[in-house]
Amino acid sequence: MAFDPELIAALHPRVVGAAELERPEPAHAAFQAATIDALLHGRYQGDLDIATLLRHGDLGLGTVDHLDGELIVVDGEAWSARVDGSLRPVPDDEHTPFAVVTPFSADVEVAVQEPLEHDALLALIDRHARDAAHAVRVDGILDVHARSVPRQDPPYRPLVEVVQEQHVFDLRGVEGTLVGFRFPTVAEGVEVPGYHLHAIAADRSSGGHVLGCRLWRGTVRIGAVTDLHLELPPGVELPTGRASGDLDAVEHRG
Ligand code: ZN
Repeated sequence: MAFDPELIAALHPRVVGAAELERPEPAHAAFQAATIDALLHGRYQGDLDIATLLRHGDLGLGTVDHLDGELIVVDGEAWSARVDGSLRPVPDDEHTPFAVVTPFSADVEVAVQEPLEHDALLALIDRHARDAAHAVRVDGILDVHARSVPRQDPPYRPLVEVVQEQHVFDLRGVEGTLVGFRFPTVAEGVEVPGYHLHAIAADRSSGGHVLGCRLWRGTVRIGAVTDLHLELPPGVELPTGRASGDLDAVEHRG
């Protein structure tokens, strides 16, 4: 099992061993638990605890054990958005079946004074980003069309089925933060290709997976991701094929 050569060129992916789980990531590296393919196929049982995840980064996203909400990592804190969009802090000993974090440091900072719709915001980030993969943090006044998913019990169904039961809700004019990543298409199967963003209110009252947004005004920060370090749980392998159909159904990206 090996990485796609194109993916190696874009992102220097590497599977890490147990010893490295204790070490923090260098700047511009992202650390990931499992693969998006494993999650798409219904592997919702987490194996990596949140305390270990937070050792590898202070900004990121994912989900938690039993797909019990959308995980948001911001300022080194882990929050989970319940199905109604309300938040709970995720305890250190809870586990994640899929998460990506990075020790965020911005290479680029852009002040936004005029309202930007979702697509225009992503286009602005694309224009200022210098690398194929990057981490993003947007702070400001936001409208967010968000979703979360209900907790699952075994036997787990594929994500594409669970997402049929997603709950959507809107945050309007809230002071908040978007966190997430853009990964290149060659990362598909390992990562969500394109943009994947989660939102969190500044007062930590609400959040979720971003389906659409408007930034009224705020600050966009972009940090390159040049290395991807993967923790692969037992039974999770690197994807051998592309699962674009599943991903299109799940991510509503673009
Ligand atoms: Zn998400």
